[in-house]
Amino acid sequence: MVDLKGQYEKIQNKVNKAITDVIESSAFINGPEVKGFQEDLESYLDVKHVIPCGNGTDALQISMMALGLEQGNEIITVDFTFAATVEVIALLKLTPVLVDVDSASFNMDIEALKRAITSKTKAIVPVHLFGQCANMEAILEVAKAHDLYVIEDTAQAIGAEYTFRDGTKKKAGTIGTVGTTSFFPSKNLGCYGDGGAIFTNDDDLAQTIRGIVNHGMYKKYYHDVIGVNSRLDSIQAAILRIKLDLLDSYCDTRRKAAAYYSAGFAHSDRIITPTTSDFTTHVFHQYTLQIIGADRNALHEHLNANNIPNAIYYPVPLHNQKAYMNSRYNENDFKVTNQLIRSVISLPMHTELETAQQDHIIHSILNFLNA
Ligand SMILES: *Cc1c(COP(=O)(O)O)cnc(C)c1O
Repeated sequence: MVDLKGQYEKIQNKVNKAITDVIESSAFINGPEVKGFQEDLESYLDVKHVIPCGNGTDALQISMMALGLEQGNEIITVDFTFAATVEVIALLKLTPVLVDVDSASFNMDIEALKRAITSKTKAIVPVHLFGQCANMEAILEVAKAHDLYVIEDTAQAIGAEYTFRDGTKKKAGTIGTVGTTSFFPSKNLGCYGDGGAIFTNDDDLAQTIRGIVNHGMYKKYYHDVIGVNSRLDSIQAAILRIKLDLLDSYCDTRRKAAAYYSAGFAHSDRIITPTTSDFTTHVFHQYTLQIIGADRNALHEHLNANNIPNAIYYPVPLHNQKAYMNSRYNENDFKVTNQLIRSVISLPMHTELETAQQDHIIHSILNFLNA
């Protein structure tokens, strides 16, 4: 699905030198590279504060801790996403409220969001799934009307840009109260291990978060709040500084590869190719088709048998996962997600994809669907 080795080979000399420099400096934890990466990312995102941390799941958890969310608070997120989002809500003993998504964008359905609001709702967690922003302007309006926090899960969409109706542009993750991301190796900005970060323009919130990531300390050995230990290590930060410089070109390469796939599939009436909402750019973390009037599982097996990488993101809606089942959920409220889990299939998408490989994938899929 990805070619991390091919991507590495193009930046090998720089990366190897950066890693060696960190080792020789022995500044493994919170070294100058971490601070340097933080500042680089603040300027790339045009956000006041970036707080690096251990991974994208921690970033979500720490954000929720910093906002002072408490047991009994309802947190609305989407049914169709990676489980990390709902996992941390449950872990903090908050109440997850799952809502359906929109079938064109795979992102939060605004009408479903509105229906899910109660007097206990405290926050909305939109996930910018597969690389494009959720409808943030509508989400911010709902949040404002009900005095809710907005936590953007930007693990799949770093670098995407949102355009407001008045023409203002903002980077994904810098629009809500707080944004989170992951630097897991296969993410669009991936390091060579685990990593994550939190973004906010709120000075007080940033200060709170900086203590929480470091055992609740604002002064060494004085623990004011319950915190966690969640750090981005210096070697990963040094690698990320090199890759951040290339992020926009990586996003362009992914968009070109997506356009090439979509042109190849344009004439099939059994395939819905991904669309981009008009208020956002798409950074194609995943290139995901919907298969209609044909058996998606049979296609999945056909591709596997032909050694063509492919994946089902996601095969089970969160409301049907054993850990998150709840009697208050009603299948009728998840019509789109219940349909998507049967129809979606994601194809190889990365910065090293060649058109000859894409031609092979496109032909294999079209031949199977037309057989
Ligand atoms: C990858 C991912 C995460 C978790 O990131 P980790 O760094 O693996 O903890 C959270 N949310 C979404 C939507 C993701 O894709």
